Amino acid sequence: MGKIISVGSGKGGVGKTTVVANLGCAMAKFGKSVLLVDADIAMANLGMFFGLHSAPITLHDVLIENIDIHDAMYDGPVKGLKIVPSGLTLSAYRRADPEKIQNIVGSVADEFDYVLVDVPAGIGSSAKAALAASQEIIIVTAPFNAALVDAMKMKMTAEHMGIKPMGAIINLRRNEPWEAKKDEVESFLEMKILGEIPEDPEVRKTLHMKHPLPVVVRKEDSPAAQAFMEIAARMTGKTYVKRKKGLLEKLMSIFRRR
Ligand code: ADP
Ligand code: MG
Repeated sequence: MGKIISVGSGKGGVGKTTVVANLGCAMAKFGKSVLLVDADIAMANLGMFFGLHSAPITLHDVLIENIDIHDAMYDGPVKGLKIVPSGLTLSAYRRADPEKIQNIVGSVADEFDYVLVDVPAGIGSSAKAALAASQEIIIVTAPFNAALVDAMKMKMTAEHMGIKPMGAIINLRRNEPWEAKKDEVESFLEMKILGEIPEDPEVRKTLHMKHPLPVVVRKEDSPAAQAFMEIAARMTGKTYVKRKKGLLEKLMSIFRRR
């Protein structure tokens, strides 16, 4: 059975969809077959990270009309990656039954090494319907108090449903003095930290491109992409060798030679 991992945060805007898109691409780069499912059926935007905003068949159609989920799967930019986007219209959202997500996702999990489920914000019924499909959860948070409190609520909600917390990803790290440190987040959430993703303008660009591509595909040497690759390498048991050195590292290696 493929491993179904939900990606949740409680708080909106901390980077769940960014993590799903980039981690999915990174795992596929390591040779894994990966399905990404946009279970945030109200505020759907996973498709936008891949230029799939006008996909003809979406998860909504699967949830409304019992259409085969395979018909809503689209090839991603990396071999082995498939995406099930949700639609953008409110009328379809209103007719879609999120309670079906669990069975539908479960029915195709065997076909993939990993299924990543993009969970809506909050801990209400739509978030729970998305969580229900998964065996494990990755909590995405940011290094400030409001995000951490919501992350804790998401972790407790998942545990209550019998879903194992795999670890947390700290996103949007800016290294401001007031930010929570890695070990503080670790002890507050009582979770392993899978990695830290810096705030990186390259990440933000994805949604503004004519042909959007997640940063791990478009610019693997950017700081955020490297952090995603490192997390994916650890999760898939692979070794990641940074493709390009940053300017500072290049300068350091020149000085060390002397
Ligand atoms: P969520 O799914 O939790 O609501 P998103 O993944 O949609 O959050 O991210 C919210 C916004 O923040 C997006 O515009 C995204 O591009 C931006 N963002 C997320 N992570 C980063 C990052 N590491 N660096 C810069 N911008 C980021
Ligand atoms: Mg999102």
